[in-house]
Amino acid sequence: MIRLTHSNCKFALTLLIQLSFSLSGNLTAQEVNRSNSPLKVLSEPLLGKQSERIKLIDQRLKGSLFYLVSGHGGPDPGAMGKIGNNILCEDEYAYDITLRFGRELLRHGAKVYFIVRDPHDGIRNDLYLRSSKDEFCYPDNPIPLNQVKRLKQRVDAINTLYRSEPPGGYKRCIELHVDARETKKNIDLFFYYHEGSKHGERLATTLRDAMERKYQLKQPGRGYSGDVSTRALYMLEKSIPTAVFIELGNINHFRDQQRLIYANNRQALAKWLCEGVMDDFEKPK
Ligand SMILES: [Zn+2]
Repeated sequence: MIRLTHSNCKFALTLLIQLSFSLSGNLTAQEVNRSNSPLKVLSEPLLGKQSERIKLIDQRLKGSLFYLVSGHGGPDPGAMGKIGNNILCEDEYAYDITLRFGRELLRHGAKVYFIVRDPHDGIRNDLYLRSSKDEFCYPDNPIPLNQVKRLKQRVDAINTLYRSEPPGGYKRCIELHVDARETKKNIDLFFYYHEGSKHGERLATTLRDAMERKYQLKQPGRGYSGDVSTRALYMLEKSIPTAVFIELGNINHFRDQQRLIYANNRQALAKWLCEGVMDDFEKPK
């Protein structure tokens, strides 16, 4: 016999909320009707209560479609760094920046699929992002620990979505990670694409150039050494849409940690990446 104690009742309720979120929630941003406003307003509940409403700025990315993947998640926290007693988990910082990046794309009229999805963590402003294991893979699949299964699950989700859309058009898969190096070396954002992918190389290079331009503008004299290269990564190889893989910094390095822990830095990164994407989208096809 199951006794309905307070704690398992609470558990059942949490489970019910989780299920209703993941099964009936909208899986892409929906337009919100506001008859008294000429500005289009979208709703993307994945961004969290504080941030779910998005006001469109313009339509510069109209017609583009993005599959955004934050690295790791579920039972796999990815790389881990430390500040004092605080553990920084790659998946949480990559996720927050991915949500912010997606929000910027949506603000400019893009369509965005978030492939890794956390029903509880929207955009967060904390310095230290609490680690959780409740991320799903689109639409609502639990993430396996096994790396091959995990990567295959995401690629399958992306390719299934890709096939469900009309062919052609500008569709890009962008995956965000935070590196961990043995050496205590700081690293600037750098980019990988799949060898032979002209569009992948162009997007990676355009994003790199946008980062360099932004750093020159905001921190003159700092310099920027992020590079673009090819790498035989499963996600880059198997994703049907053109894919680019971004490493945001070294989670063990003091300077790179500042890029991650301050919400305004995460926001700036997201904005700069969006500007790079707009540059790429507006180039002649
Ligand atoms: Zn990673």
